[in-house]
Amino acid sequence: MVSHTTRIAVIGGGVGGLTAAIALTRIADVQVTLFEQAAELGDVGAGVTVAPNGQRVLEKLDALEPVKRAGAIPDGPGLYMDALGNVVTDAAWEDTAKQYQNVGMYRPDLVDVLAREVAPESVRLGHRLTSVRALDESVRVEFDNGFHDEFDGVIGADGIHSRVRDSLMDVPRPVYSGSIAYRGVIDAALLPKDWPMISQVWMGEGKHFMCYPLQQRRLFNYVGFVPSTRPLKESWSAPGEVSELAAEFGGEKWDLSLRRFIDLIDHTFWWGLYDHEPLSNWSRGRITLLGDSAHTMLPHAGQGVNQAMEDAITLAFFLREADGAHEIAEAFKRYTAIRMQRTAILQNSSRRSGSQFDAQNEFADIKKRDADLHAGRDFRRSVLFDFDAVAAAERALKRYRRI
Ligand SMILES: Cc1cc2nc3c(=O)[nH]c(=O)nc-3n(C[C@H](O)[C@H](O)[C@H](O)COP(=O)(O)OP(=O)(O)OC[C@H]3O[C@@H](n4cnc5c(N)ncnc54)[C@H](O)[C@@H]3O)c2cc1C
Repeated sequence: MVSHTTRIAVIGGGVGGLTAAIALTRIADVQVTLFEQAAELGDVGAGVTVAPNGQRVLEKLDALEPVKRAGAIPDGPGLYMDALGNVVTDAAWEDTAKQYQNVGMYRPDLVDVLAREVAPESVRLGHRLTSVRALDESVRVEFDNGFHDEFDGVIGADGIHSRVRDSLMDVPRPVYSGSIAYRGVIDAALLPKDWPMISQVWMGEGKHFMCYPLQQRRLFNYVGFVPSTRPLKESWSAPGEVSELAAEFGGEKWDLSLRRFIDLIDHTFWWGLYDHEPLSNWSRGRITLLGDSAHTMLPHAGQGVNQAMEDAITLAFFLREADGAHEIAEAFKRYTAIRMQRTAILQNSSRRSGSQFDAQNEFADIKKRDADLHAGRDFRRSVLFDFDAVAAAERALKRYRRI
C-alpha cells in the first residue's frame, strides 16, 4: 500500500489542487505538499457553481457543509429566457433524488473554505514551478525561487497554462471560442426586493447574459458572453469596460429588467474564452494532470470546478489501491483511463451549450434550439448531476482487480 511516507506533490492551489490535497490525505493517506505560485490563495475570480456531482465529492471528503454555508442555494430551478425575458425553459438545478441543489460560490470563498481543510504546513505559497523531470524512482520539481525537491509522484493541477502538462507532451494549442466574457459581482442589496433568487440566462443572437446569487445571497454573480475578434488573453483579472458591456445588452431588443441589472454594475473583468481539444493522454510515469490542465473547458456547462473535484477523488481512490510507490505510475494510468472519456464529452458539450445559448451553428433555428435546450435539462440531471465519482471509481477498481 502507499502510505503516509509516500510523498506526492500537487502543483497548483486552485479548486482542483486543493480538493486533490484533501482527497489524497483523507482517502489515500499519503503525504501531500501543495505548491502555489501566488503569494495568497484564491484572491481572484467571480462566481462558480458547485453542482450536485461536485457536492457528492465534497460530502465524501467531509467538506460539503462549510461550502454550503459560504455559498448560496437558489430558491428553485434557473430559467433560460429569450432576449426579452420570455421563458424558454427551466433549467436542471438539482439531482434526480433531490438531495443536492446547485450552490453558487464566490470563487475566493470556495478556495478559502477548501484551503481550511488542508494542513497549513503542507502548503507552499510563492512557489512557481519551472521544471518537472522524471528520475528513475522519483520526480524532481524545481521552482523559480530556487527551491527544489523530489517526490514519489507529481500531480499537475496548474490550470489552463499548465507547466506540468508542457513537460508531458507538446503544448496543446488553445482554441478561441470567438467570444469574450464580462464577469464580476454586484452587491445583492442593490437589487429590487422582488429580484428572483435563482439563476437566469437571457439568450440573444450571438450573445447571452447570466446571473445567480452567491455568498448567502449577499452577492450576485454575472457574466455577459459576447462575440469578439479582440485578441484577449485567457486572463482572470483583466479589467473591462462597463460601458461596453452595457452597450452589448442595451436597447429595446433586451429585457428591461436585464438592462436595470446591468445599470447596477460598477466594475467588470473580461476574459477571453478558450478551451483545448481533448488530450489523448494525461499521465506519464509518476506524473499526471487534473482539472483544467487536463481538460480545459468553456464555462457553459458550469462544470469546471466539478470535473476537477471528480478527478481529485478518483485519483485518491486509485492511489490508495497502489501497492507501494512503484505502482503509482499504474495508478495514474488507470485514473486517466477512467476520467478521460467523461471530461472529453463535457469539453464538447460545453461548446455545444455555448452555441445553444447564442443561437449559433445548428441552433440558429430557434425552435430546434428551444426544444434541444428543454431536452438538455434531463441530460444535465442524469448525466451530470446524478454522477457519483466514488461509485464510478469503485466499479472501475473492481474491474481492475479481476485482471
Ligand atoms: C484566478 C482564477 C480565477 C478564476 N475565476 C473563475 C470565475 O470567475 N468563474 C469560473 O467559472 N471559473 C473561474 N476560474 C476557473 C475555475 O476555477 C477552474 O476552471 C476550475 O476551478 C478548475 O480549476 P483548476 O484547479 O484545475 O485550475 P485553476 O483554478 O486555474 O487553478 C490553477 C492554480 O495553479 C496555479 N499555478 C499555475 N501555474 C503554476 C505554476 N507554474 N506553479 C505553481 N502554481 C501554478 C494557479 O495560480 C492557480 O491557483 C478561475 C481560475 C483562476 C486561476
